[in-house]
Amino acid sequence: MASTQSQMCETEGCSNASKLQCPTCIKLGVQSSFFCSQECFKGSWDVHKQVHKKAKEIKARKEEAKSVFNAVVSDPFFNYHYTGLVRPWYPLSPKREVPCHIIRPDYATHPQGISRTEREVRGSTQIKVLAPEEIEGMRIACRLGREVLDIAARMIRPGVTTDAIDNVVHEACVERNCYPSPLNYYSFPKSCCTSVNEVICHGIPDQRPLLDGDIINVDITVYHGGFHGDLNETFFVGTVNEASKKLVRVAYESLMLAIAEENKAIGVMKSGHVFTIEPMISEGTWQDETWPDLWTAVTKDGRRSAQFEHTLLVTDVGCDILTRRSDADGLPHFLTQS
Ligand code: MN
Repeated sequence: MASTQSQMCETEGCSNASKLQCPTCIKLGVQSSFFCSQECFKGSWDVHKQVHKKAKEIKARKEEAKSVFNAVVSDPFFNYHYTGLVRPWYPLSPKREVPCHIIRPDYATHPQGISRTEREVRGSTQIKVLAPEEIEGMRIACRLGREVLDIAARMIRPGVTTDAIDNVVHEACVERNCYPSPLNYYSFPKSCCTSVNEVICHGIPDQRPLLDGDIINVDITVYHGGFHGDLNETFFVGTVNEASKKLVRVAYESLMLAIAEENKAIGVMKSGHVFTIEPMISEGTWQDETWPDLWTAVTKDGRRSAQFEHTLLVTDVGCDILTRRSDADGLPHFLTQS
């Protein structure tokens, strides 16, 4: 059936009806790429050739994925227009089990992962002031979360899959008598979030191997003694370009400046309040969209995004960073990676 909708020329500022399709795009299987004339096609060449470059790179990555995972490489989101180069081609491993002696949050066994206790406090303007013993519980959960993130940090290198990171995170939680908080939270399938390149947050660990030059955020939350300890860092995979180094540095500086501002704040914050700060900084547009898996948040322009997160306790004199690294002067791993 012929399309009733006429295509417009792709050239910026040209509104003529299109008559020609780029032959290279046809060969590469790229939809669209219509132009009104040879002149417009030639005039757009410098911009348009980037479409070929991206399509060739995607094709090469798909071939590589096929050679590793063979028949399972298929696109689960029919017709979804990806903004960048990350794809959900890679299978998820089976659901990981948590031994029954570990105390779980209420959503862990709910069929849709709904948290009743969270819904009860939703919309409330009252922030709980924690009692000294609750603060101690929070400190412990945050320290354990930090230990788990430090373990994950040490395995990040080209070739390691995000699923392998998830496996190590899961086991490290269990060893510490912690429930990995993301698991089954509103049906999230894995024990941590791994967000690569243009993925802003809530990336699902799968069998995609990390590539030299990637950046990856690993977000850890552990549930222990009735408290969630929550933190994340962004890491370099192998050798990354200068733009990515700058992006990660700016995201980290944003977090630390926000924390410093907190120290000065006089207002609604009370000693005994606990909260997180977690800036997400993107290279290009601030706009995001979510994959059809309803979790993976990506930048709308496919450019990279980085994030850092700490859990903080408000004290009489300022605030304590409960998820601070205990070694390396508290510096994040990207600054101490060799
Ligand atoms: Mn987090």
